[in-house]
Amino acid sequence: EELVVLEGVRKSYNVGLPNETEVLHGVSMRVTSGEFVALMGPSGSGKSTLLTILGLLDRMTSGSYRLQGEEVGGLSEAELTLRRRRTLGFVFQFHHLLPAFSALENVTLPILMSEGRVSGAERDRARGLLDAVGLAAAMDKKPSELSGGMQQRVAIARSLVLQPPLVLADEPTGNLDTASSDEVFTHLRRMHRERGTSFVIVTHDPRLGTRCDRLVELIDGKIARDEPVSR
Ligand code: ADP
Ligand code: ADP
Repeated sequence: EELVVLEGVRKSYNVGLPNETEVLHGVSMRVTSGEFVALMGPSGSGKSTLLTILGLLDRMTSGSYRLQGEEVGGLSEAELTLRRRRTLGFVFQFHHLLPAFSALENVTLPILMSEGRVSGAERDRARGLLDAVGLAAAMDKKPSELSGGMQQRVAIARSLVLQPPLVLADEPTGNLDTASSDEVFTHLRRMHRERGTSFVIVTHDPRLGTRCDRLVELIDGKIARDEPVSR
């Protein structure tokens, strides 16, 4: 089942201004249900831009984007927000956890925001996710009491709490040392294996790239490579 089908996607910034620049020049790619995809490429090649478009956080300038079979190009902001909540989870380089909230409260936050309340069953699901990323003992701790790697694992649990079929991660280990980075990545892989969630992960780290199932490389706003990772 195709989750994502991009065809000829172009993106320009500052449209209509003297400094208008096209940064994606006709990108076509697919993500199938259950895939674990690395998005790599030099700085400035358009990875964040592409992830932002995949995440319905910004609009493409032209081209086609079908998400779960539905063309999203013409949808209103409200419709995009609904699709975002239903279909997508996000992990960012800087985890954006709320400092005054416990790990558990941070994980249930997307439920609170989309439904206005958190049921007992949903709180149990959030606890289960924190347990699954090795944070059973840290559920009531504030982010400042956790290491960088632990904070990022809270962010992974949060990204999965609405049970999206697809999680987009922008440099999820970008600000971690090698050991924490490996551990966070191991949790991402385990979530993929155990839950069947699809992941698209932007990384600069070739070691992590080879731990994905497929590698898509973007150079100067074009797909330069799209192939399975051989092990
Ligand atoms: P990457 O994530 O691969 O480093 P980006 O998608 O962040 O690449 O950037 C691609 C290009 O788009 C760069 O030249 C960058 O300067 C430009 N760019 C990114 N965001 C904006 C923006 N909001 N306005 C104008 N230019 C942008
Ligand atoms: P990353 O490479 O980690 O994705 P960013 O997305 O923060 O880094 O920035 C990538 C490039 O896009 C940088 O060169 C940055 O200067 C440029 N950029 C980001 N936002 C804007 C913007 N609003 N206007 C112009 N350039 C931008």
